[in-house]
Amino acid sequence: MTPTPPEIAQIVDAIRSRHRFVLSSHSRPDGDSIGSQLAMAYALRDMGKHVELVNSDAAPPQLMGFPGVPDIRIAPAVDGSFDASIIMECSDLTRTGVTGLDRAFVINIDHHPGNKAYGQINWFNAGAAACAEMVFDLIVALGVRMTPEIATHVYLAILTDTGSFHYSNITPRTFDICRQTVEAGVNPSAMARRIFDSNSFGKLKLIGALLDSMELTDNGQLAVLYMDDAMLTATGCTHNDTEGIINLPLTAREIHAVVFFKVGASGDVRVSMRSKYDVDVRVVANEYGGGGHKNASGFTVTGSLPEVKPRIIERLSRAIADGLQSRPE
Ligand code: 5GP
Ligand code: MN
Repeated sequence: MTPTPPEIAQIVDAIRSRHRFVLSSHSRPDGDSIGSQLAMAYALRDMGKHVELVNSDAAPPQLMGFPGVPDIRIAPAVDGSFDASIIMECSDLTRTGVTGLDRAFVINIDHHPGNKAYGQINWFNAGAAACAEMVFDLIVALGVRMTPEIATHVYLAILTDTGSFHYSNITPRTFDICRQTVEAGVNPSAMARRIFDSNSFGKLKLIGALLDSMELTDNGQLAVLYMDDAMLTATGCTHNDTEGIINLPLTAREIHAVVFFKVGASGDVRVSMRSKYDVDVRVVANEYGGGGHKNASGFTVTGSLPEVKPRIIERLSRAIADGLQSRPE
């Protein structure tokens, strides 16, 4: 049994003594940000608290059918007054893309290495497989019953943030939490079908187009994907449909890292990276002002693709060379 971190007791006290909460998470939300946020929201409402959820971007379409997700307010700023802001999954407050959250008492709950400790209370655990593992522990400490809604969101977050139990940081605790969510009514098969087998036909076409134009460098160890708005229009997709596509090249045995360049109308290039084994893509993201995890990170860079691409690929080649590449046979 791991000792309970002191921050949990501080957060429990801070929540008990306050009434109005605003909950936020990172821009372009993923399963862990949405699941953590909603699990927390249902728990606080069970305690009789007033809760509002504000994000800068809408949830991915396949998550829209889960309880409470359509009620998240999408806005660039907080409206109204709150006793506390609970920020989940954000290494920096600016990752929310929402202003005004720091007008209230800020509670920062996160599992990303390099968290900036921007809150009045900062609870950070880089060993958590998903931020929702931390949220689960907090909900238990608050004495709230594991309702089907809370369990669904915790499981949703863990399932997606571990890449369907592919990634590192999965511990016995991860399965213990999942066991408790299943006992509370979660159906793992139905969850997997809803989350992963709900692509539009347009998304399949987009996957085809992206894989068709994929480049390989570094003796086939680095896959380079590229996308612009024209590819989205041609396949009838939106940016939300790109979720998860970056992981596909990693299913090839030879490929150790993937970089996905998304060129937007703004002129910025959004760069996402994924890797296997000891290839650390976070160090690359950090050098460009971004962040994330060792095997999944990202950043945004200003400039045209031909300007920025060679430097980033060269930097990733070094990251691959630096990795131990200890591939188990
Ligand atoms: P994605 O490639 O899916 O956008 O992000 C992968 C991981 O990197 C996520 O954990 C995400 O939170 C993190 N990440 C992506 N972009 C940024 C960024 O610009 N700044 C920071 N700090 N983290 C990022
Ligand atoms: Mn996460």
